[in-house]
Amino acid sequence: MICPHCKGEGVSRGIGCPMNGTGCRPIEIECYLCRGSKEITKQQSEWLMLGEAHRERRRLEGRTLSEEAKRRGISPHELSCMETGRADPTPLLETGQEGD
Ligand SMILES: [Zn+2]
Repeated sequence: MICPHCKGEGVSRGIGCPMNGTGCRPIEIECYLCRGSKEITKQQSEWLMLGEAHRERRRLEGRTLSEEAKRRGISPHELSCMETGRADPTPLLETGQEGD
């Protein structure tokens, strides 16, 4: 399916500010989700859906990315990947419910 992040363009747009003083300008970077392929697999779209659901719940419960990562014993980078469809978010679902 078409990548929902870049909408099939394969790139993400942002503002780049080089350190050499030439000023900020729009830049295009390879889309993190489809890595420039413009499409994502069915598996990736499932990961994305699950990851986004987790991120929503985490936000509702008022935890930041790093707090949540610490709670789960993973790095914020790993958690971020899981929440954005770059890594399998299944472990988040399996350990999501903590007893009281
Ligand atoms: Zn993309």
